[in-house]
Amino acid sequence: MRVAVYPGSFDPITNGHLDIIKRACQLFDKVIVAIAENPQKKALFTLEERLEMLHEVLKDLPKVRVDAYHGLTVEYARRQGACAIIRGLRAISDFENEFVMALTNKKLAPEIETLFLMTEAQYSFISSSAVKEVAYYGGCLKDMVPPPVEVRLRAKFREIKRLGEE
Ligand code: ADP
Repeated sequence: MRVAVYPGSFDPITNGHLDIIKRACQLFDKVIVAIAENPQKKALFTLEERLEMLHEVLKDLPKVRVDAYHGLTVEYARRQGACAIIRGLRAISDFENEFVMALTNKKLAPEIETLFLMTEAQYSFISSSAVKEVAYYGGCLKDMVPPPVEVRLRAKFREIKRLGEE
């Protein structure tokens, strides 16, 4: 059984993430999509909301399991019996950080490979932060996020704006 962990913030999951997950499913028996809990990173959605969105969007992919973890990704991957960590690469700008992270993880856990999947061109411009900015200003999110995520983004910013007006 070949298990891979796909770690990230998923704040929120986008069509770019979804494409990477579907492609990883063709390479592994089980893909664990895991939210890395990082208190230093300010997220728009709570951990529970992000987990709910992952469950909603990934429910039809039988090889996928959804989870969250604290601490080092390699230690989490070890506990899950994973042989690989999946990361997506969009532009050269992703490369530098990812390269350092992959080498650090290799040093900590030489038995776990980091596997980079190159983004599909049509998703290369999509990031969680860009999606949040478009949603904040009420722009069209078609083809950027799965429909349940769009609904959540609209609701979240409606709520934030309502609270701001009170
Ligand atoms: P992190 O905070 O760990 O960067 P993200 O949720 O932003 O978490 O991203 C998780 C992984 O998915 C990263 O490897 C990132 O490069 C990759 N990724 C994000 N957006 C895309 C995309 N549009 N196409 C391919 N990979 C992507």
